[in-house]
Amino acid sequence: MAIIEEENLVAAAAGVEQLVRDLQRTVRSGITKTEKWRIQQLKALLKLIVENQDSLVQAVFTDLGKPAHQVVFTELLILATSCKLAIKELKQWMAPKEVPVPPMALPGIAFVVPEPLGVALVIAPWNFPISLGVDPLIGAISAGCAAVLKPSEITPTVSSILADLLPKYLDTDAIRVVEGGIPITTALLAQKWDKIFYTGNDTVGRIVMAAAAKHLTPVTLELGGKSPVYIDDSVDLKVSARRICQGKWSFSDGQACIAPDYLLVQENIVPKLVETLKETIVEFFGEDPSTCAELGRIVNANHFRRLTRLLDDPRTAEKIVLGGERNEQSLFIAPTIVLDVPLDVPVMLDEIFGPILPIITVKGVDEAINIILDLPKPLALYVFSTNKAVQERFVTETSAGAVGINETVLHVAVLGLPFGGVGESGMGAYHGKHSFDAFSHYKGVYHKSMEADADGTFPPYTSARNNLLRSFLTEDLEEI
Ligand code: NAD
Repeated sequence: MAIIEEENLVAAAAGVEQLVRDLQRTVRSGITKTEKWRIQQLKALLKLIVENQDSLVQAVFTDLGKPAHQVVFTELLILATSCKLAIKELKQWMAPKEVPVPPMALPGIAFVVPEPLGVALVIAPWNFPISLGVDPLIGAISAGCAAVLKPSEITPTVSSILADLLPKYLDTDAIRVVEGGIPITTALLAQKWDKIFYTGNDTVGRIVMAAAAKHLTPVTLELGGKSPVYIDDSVDLKVSARRICQGKWSFSDGQACIAPDYLLVQENIVPKLVETLKETIVEFFGEDPSTCAELGRIVNANHFRRLTRLLDDPRTAEKIVLGGERNEQSLFIAPTIVLDVPLDVPVMLDEIFGPILPIITVKGVDEAINIILDLPKPLALYVFSTNKAVQERFVTETSAGAVGINETVLHVAVLGLPFGGVGESGMGAYHGKHSFDAFSHYKGVYHKSMEADADGTFPPYTSARNNLLRSFLTEDLEEI
């Protein structure tokens, strides 16, 4: 059962129930726990990506108008790197790790043993429609789980190609794709899963968490938020502008969860930075960005209208210093900069998730940090400064999913870093070994030797035995 049609929801719900039962049976058989199965599946997934790169690129272009190099860079390359790392490191990730045993538990040995959580549900969004579905699957497979992937209905071509390709390469007894919109996702969420991994907006994140709570299912929630950028006068503005423009407009036209949302700029460099950003936008996307094939388009009319409403708010509209042009027919909105809007206009309250960039003038670090602390904790926070004390203040005095220093977005490619939010930007993390962890339970195993026990730890608790127990209290004190 690769596809469930929405017309028949009762049948769909029954189908979903049966699907979960089938996957539970597969997990119980033990096949997904074996290293051999995991490696086979990871290699097959890698093969799928390499062999079908052209049709995958074409599918994303059909749904989102993204140019080929963007899809290769931000989706296929990330997936291939994740697969290769997992294949290389899996043995080590799976290996039980010995931990020290305290004197009162001797003689014995103790291990931490990773075990697969079981049957997982992965719900993906539309903005990087291949990688945000398949990357969590790499974690699920590495950890030895069975999984259902539910791609976003907003990118139907990608959803359909994943539903077509995955069964051709992967073990369908363990890995399935279910397509559909809200009714199907609702039917899926009603089931008892061993793990739910959701990527998308925080409103649905709350629905997912409420559904998971019914079964005490653990969740990873990869959400969004307003990712700020602080820039001071210590940096090279041209270099900074190029990195900001790339992160804001080159990957999905601002429709990326870690795209810079707004800039906080030290007052003495604001005019120069605005000029440099304008020059860089022309350098990257030409004098008329509406004809530029490098820029993607807004995903659909709903999001187009949401973004134009943000721009047309009168207190925002009067602050446009670049862009603002739009075409609903082609779902195009020009790279747009608004300068010094009040902090209570919609564009400064909600995640923008589009090509609009507000710039807010600040006196310095204190004011910038206060603005950031007044908003929900972001998924990413960027600092452009060569001053180590400034960098350090942002790292220690703010809370964010990740901090990028003198960069935007690229930290996502560093697989050693956990990728995930904090507070309203999400909970849990993945990428590299963290993906394995997200789908694993770390089980403690303590193995007591059958050698005779030390009498002192057993009843009756005579004063001699009490003294022995108390001696453990002061043991090693001088080494601490
Ligand atoms: P979306 O509309 O495609 O929704 C995501 C998933 O939720 C889809 O599979 C959809 O079927 C499901 N869904 C939608 N409404 C539902 C409902 N009422 N009940 C159950 N399921 C439902 O994608 P989106 O939410 O528009 O994605 C954009 C958001 O995702 C932004 O906020 C962005 O910051 C965030 N995001 C986060 C990350 C990350 O890694 N942290 C990555 C990408 C996007």
